[in-house]
Amino acid sequence: MSQVRKHIYADNAATSPLSRKAYEAMLPYLMNDYGNASQPYVFARKPKKVLQEARAVIADCIGATSEEIFFTSCGTESNNWVIQGAFRQGKHIVTSAIEHHSILRPCAVCGDATLIPVSKDGVVFYDYYRAALDNNASGLASIMFANNEIGTVEPIAELAEIAHQKGWLFHTDAVQAVGHTPINVKELGIDLLSSSAHKFNGPKGIGFLYKKKGIEWPSLLMGGSQEFGNRAGTENVPSIVGMATALQENIDSLQMNIKHLQYLEDILINGLKDNNISFCRNGAANHIAGNISLSFPAADGEALLHRLDLMGISVSTGSACDSKETQVSHVLKAIHLDEQLAKGTIRISFGRWNMEDEVHLIVSSLKKIL
Ligand code: PLP
Repeated sequence: MSQVRKHIYADNAATSPLSRKAYEAMLPYLMNDYGNASQPYVFARKPKKVLQEARAVIADCIGATSEEIFFTSCGTESNNWVIQGAFRQGKHIVTSAIEHHSILRPCAVCGDATLIPVSKDGVVFYDYYRAALDNNASGLASIMFANNEIGTVEPIAELAEIAHQKGWLFHTDAVQAVGHTPINVKELGIDLLSSSAHKFNGPKGIGFLYKKKGIEWPSLLMGGSQEFGNRAGTENVPSIVGMATALQENIDSLQMNIKHLQYLEDILINGLKDNNISFCRNGAANHIAGNISLSFPAADGEALLHRLDLMGISVSTGSACDSKETQVSHVLKAIHLDEQLAKGTIRISFGRWNMEDEVHLIVSSLKKIL
């Protein structure tokens, strides 16, 4: 009789499994307390109340206040809200060459943006950034907190400070960072921040935008007066509750999660070395724990992904949104990775529920394939 092998999911940067606690917290608002939170009758009281509670929990997790949190449908919507809103106000945008497409595409379509190059580790070059801000009277600087393909964490506090010195606003796409690294928007000087629940064990199709009190921003979705008149659309109460529960859970065990992920990373890297597998690792020393971009010389990343898939292991070649494109990703191009190495690149991204034996299996599977 053939043995059924456990599936190993190592693509948590693409999406992460829903936490059981979040799932259970969502259930009452899917089945029983399904009232529209905007209605004035008694049946809507509970959804309205949990909406307020979820807003407070999320605000607290990032050092904001409740009235600064606006629920959206995903990270893509939050990013589009910021970028399209900036262009509509006539602001010039300075962003990096390694942003997610939900920043880069609206920039390309809506107006004129300056793309800042990055180092071989994926860190934004300060000099280019400063010069770009100097060349334009005022605008919006938008630099991602952490890169989705190589995990590099950008020097957010410094970049925000430079923006403010020049009278610019500072936005960060923190989709890969929220719930994975400590964030305090006030201490870091962030004016706007995008986030998405499915990257921190919350449900898919829900996110939020942090907008510092006092900043006026045109709405992206217009219609009803939900979200204090800033974002129209009936609130997705079950998902919002799930998002707040998952975020709180991750923040409560943040240091433990980071330690566990660093431990798994070490096992992977040492395992590859011990097995004499040649590889180079992309990204900076300061990266999101568990996000590991590896390039294997003379290998084909696409083929590696499919071979691992056949062995029951899910990894990625670049960002999830890029998986249909076979050409080298814009991130690997921006860090000037040798083209042959870029083609042999995979991203392994562990989550808090990955275990040591799974990492050993990934190493032995890679050894077999390579
Ligand atoms: N920004 C980054 C850095 C991401 O990694 C992603 C998703 O992969 C997004 C934005 C888009 O988020 P969502 O899938 O919630 O639209």
